[in-house]
Amino acid sequence: MPANPLDTFTNQAVKVFGNEASREYQRRLKDDRTLCGTHCGSCGRTAFPPRDFCPDCFSGDCSWVAIGDGATLYAFTTQHRGLRFTAPDVIGVVNVPDVGLIVTPLSGRLDELEIGQAMKPEVVDINEKLSTHRFIPA
Ligand SMILES: [Zn+2]
Repeated sequence: MPANPLDTFTNQAVKVFGNEASREYQRRLKDDRTLCGTHCGSCGRTAFPPRDFCPDCFSGDCSWVAIGDGATLYAFTTQHRGLRFTAPDVIGVVNVPDVGLIVTPLSGRLDELEIGQAMKPEVVDINEKLSTHRFIPA
């Protein structure tokens, strides 16, 4: 299958503009199949997306932590893509313990989702070099 030009662009953007945290985030998604954030050893905040330094106190004392356990669905909707002949994407906001609200793609049909239901992260491979996440009912 020929490479999707958008995937090629995204791969290149991560390679050129990504920092150490974004590269490690990708490695953990792809190799460990784990959605991670970074936990600040100074103030205790868990950041997502992960950072090289804490966005609250600017400390560099950050360590990697798996996130997503205990997540609940906060809001959801659908969004059509540019091409109208594909199924619309289901997107939403998930409340992740120790992190807060994050916007994320969701898996599942709109009529199967319910505010407050338990959700868990799932790794989705975009291509051989790039992965992303979505949340699915737990
Ligand atoms: Zn901090």
